[in-house]
Amino acid sequence: MANLILTINAGSSSVKFSAYRIAEGQLTQLALGLIDGIGAKATFSAKKSDGAKTQFVLDQSHATVDHKMALTAVLDWLEKEKLDGEVVGVGHRVVHGGPVYAEPVLVDPEIFRRLEAFSPLAPLHQPYNLAGVEAAIEAFPKAAQVACFDTAFHRKHPFIADTFALPRQYYDEGVRRYGFHGLSYEFIHRILRHEEPVLARGKVIVAHLGNGASLCAINAGKSVASTMGFTALDGLPMGTRCGQLDPGVVLYLMAEKKMNAEQITDLLYKNSGLKGMSGVSNDMRELEASTEQSARDAIDYFVSRVRREIGGLCAVLGGLDCIVLTGGIGENAARVRQAILENMEWFGIQIDAEANARNERIISEKGSPTVALILKTDEERMIAAHTAELLGLKQPLVPAIS
Ligand code: ADP
Repeated sequence: MANLILTINAGSSSVKFSAYRIAEGQLTQLALGLIDGIGAKATFSAKKSDGAKTQFVLDQSHATVDHKMALTAVLDWLEKEKLDGEVVGVGHRVVHGGPVYAEPVLVDPEIFRRLEAFSPLAPLHQPYNLAGVEAAIEAFPKAAQVACFDTAFHRKHPFIADTFALPRQYYDEGVRRYGFHGLSYEFIHRILRHEEPVLARGKVIVAHLGNGASLCAINAGKSVASTMGFTALDGLPMGTRCGQLDPGVVLYLMAEKKMNAEQITDLLYKNSGLKGMSGVSNDMRELEASTEQSARDAIDYFVSRVRREIGGLCAVLGGLDCIVLTGGIGENAARVRQAILENMEWFGIQIDAEANARNERIISEKGSPTVALILKTDEERMIAAHTAELLGLKQPLVPAIS
């Protein structure tokens, strides 16, 4: 029987999963799915790689569905669909590995307790990620549980890229610039190493531009700086998150508007960014299609912040050999990409407008000092690869960084 790896991305109201088979050294995706509406009436939907789709409302005898019921539904579905294999490892997306974890880790009760201690650093995500781990331990008791962190790739930052200008005691307590989207950056860098080894050894910026967005500066394979900081709020404006904000604005909201922590959290996480600015949508496609001036302003602000941060990270790196765009916007939004990369010739980036409009892999001119590329990210596959590697199972599709 083949070895199967399951990946789980558990949030407050949804659980995303995918199943991979490892056979003949290949990591092959068999299925992916989503349980949506956790905490209420939930729906289960899944799609097998052969195209077969399933969708149903989960267990109607219960008023609400929790993470345990969601994972049991995944187990039942895998058995029913006879995916031909045994789940030997479950890889979990866990947002926070704190200042400690620079690599994925096998979860045992002691590690689980340590990960729980990081919940105050990411209260909107970490407790739900861990609820997914607990649920998977119950549903798949024989499988190894592996935690893969969004922060891990950035853990080797130099001190100055990791700290704020606050008294040192806060840094020591864990108030640091952790950086996120690490699984995406790691995946992209591995692909780059595989496809463009010379560029991968140099100075690279990866722009992960999706609903969440950040940039990462990578030098010789190591993350040296990220636009995200203590939480996933900082840096670039995002679908609904504000990005860089003067902390004085938060003080103003508290003192003058009498807003409490919950209201400010709601504003900055859910009602700012492209959605807040435009008043139209958090979705780049809808903004591009809109005739509202506010939608154009939101896109222009997004573009200008990305350009500004590229400049900053170039200064950190001391030059730039390669820039990779990824995520839903980075991979698909040709006009936004064009606006981000044009008029940067003085900087070494010569965008090829036609290649960019055709979504080609290389979108810079031949001979451009900096090569610009579009690469498709795949955080699930990165989690599956990490899980397989930790279990000592070979899978060369995402080659390990030696
Ligand atoms: P998440 O961070 O939730 O994984 P994605 O990486 O899927 O999000 O990115 C979602 C974003 O990508 C949305 O703003 C969406 O509008 C944008 N996007 C996807 N396809 C296109 C497209 N063809 N043109 C413009 N924007 C696109």
